Amino acid sequence: MTRPLVVLGATGSIGTQTLEVADNLGLHVAALAARRPSEALAHLGHRYPEAVVIAAGGSSQERDDLARKLGRQPRFGSEAVLEAAGAENRIVVNGIVGAAGLRATIAGLQAGNRVALANKESLVAGGPVVRAMLEEHGGELVPVDSEHSALHQCLAGEPAESVARLILTASGGPFRGRPRESLLSVTPDEALRHPTWDMGRRITVDSATMFNKGLEIVETHFLFEIGYDRIDVVVHPQSIVHSAVEFVDGSWKAHMGHPDMRIPIQYALTAPDRSATPGDPFSLAGVTLTFEEPDRSVFPAIDIAYAAGRAGGSAPAVMNAADEMAVEAFLQGRLGFLAIAEVVQRTLDEFEWRELKTVEDVLEVDSEARSMAAGLIAGVC
Ligand code: MG
Repeated sequence: MTRPLVVLGATGSIGTQTLEVADNLGLHVAALAARRPSEALAHLGHRYPEAVVIAAGGSSQERDDLARKLGRQPRFGSEAVLEAAGAENRIVVNGIVGAAGLRATIAGLQAGNRVALANKESLVAGGPVVRAMLEEHGGELVPVDSEHSALHQCLAGEPAESVARLILTASGGPFRGRPRESLLSVTPDEALRHPTWDMGRRITVDSATMFNKGLEIVETHFLFEIGYDRIDVVVHPQSIVHSAVEFVDGSWKAHMGHPDMRIPIQYALTAPDRSATPGDPFSLAGVTLTFEEPDRSVFPAIDIAYAAGRAGGSAPAVMNAADEMAVEAFLQGRLGFLAIAEVVQRTLDEFEWRELKTVEDVLEVDSEARSMAAGLIAGVC
C-alpha cells in the first residue's frame, strides 16, 4: 500500500509516535534520522534492522559509540538526512525540530515525495520558498499537526470558492482564564503541564503562551493558500474539535476525535485512505464541548502572529526564531514567562524586513533573528 517511510526526528515525540503507527500498519521503515547519535537512536536501529540509521550531529566519540552499539554502519551528517528525504518514492515524515527541517522538506518535495509535515519552520519560516517548490516540482505536503490535519480533512473534495473561513481551535494551554499579572512568576514546570496534549517541550511552552497557535495561523495561510482575514482562532479547552471550516452556504464541518497525535500522523501516511486504529473508540455521550474567544490581552502572541503573517517576507521567520530563543531562555530560568512575547515583538520591531526567495535567505534570517533575540534576552536579564 503506502510507500517506505523515512522518519526524520525519529527519537522525538512525533518520530516515536510515527513508528508506533508504522508498526501497527505494517509499513516498511527505510530510514531513521535523529540529531544526536543517542542510545535511543541505537535502540531504534535494532528495532528496524533494515533501516538506514542517520545521526545529523554528534561528536566523533558519540558517532563511534553508535556504530558499535548498532553493529552496522550508520550514516552521519545533515547531507545524509537530505539524501534520505530525497530518495525516490518515499513518504518523508519530517519531525525535525527547528530550521534544519526546512531543507529536508525541500529535499523531499524536490524528489516528488509526500512530506508528512510536523516541522513548523518549513512553513512558518520558509512558507514562500516551500510554496514555490510545490508549484515547481509537485510533491505533496500533508500536515501532521492535528489542527491542519483536521482542516485538510474538512476541505477534502471542497472547491476553494466554497470556503468562507478556516477556524483553528486552541486548547488555551495551562494558563487559560488566568489574569495577566498572575503569569509574571510562572515556572517552566507549570508551563510544561499541558492539559490535553502530550508534546515536546518547546511546543508545550508555545501552547502556554499561545505562540503555538500563532505559528499555526501562518502555517494555515501557506498550507491552504488562504488570506489571514479568513483564518480565525477559537479556544476549545477539551481539544475534541481539532478545527473547523465554515462554507459560504453557512454550513460548517468540524473534525472531532480523541486528542491523540497518532490519529493525524496515521492520516498523513494513508491519506486519502483510512486504516483502522487500535484503542478505545471515541464517544460523544457525556462529553461537554465549550468554545470561547482567546483573551488577546493575556496572550499577545495571536495578534503578533497575524501582524507578522500579514507583513510576510522575513517577518514570520523572525517571529519563529525569536520565540524559540525566548522559550529556551524561559526553560533555563533566564527569562520570565510574559517576557517571551516581549522579546518576539521587539525582535520583529528591530529586524529589517526583507523578502525570502531561497532557502539560504530563510536560514540567514533565522540565524540573524536568533542573534538579535539572544542580545535582547541578555539585555532583559
Ligand atoms: Mg497543533
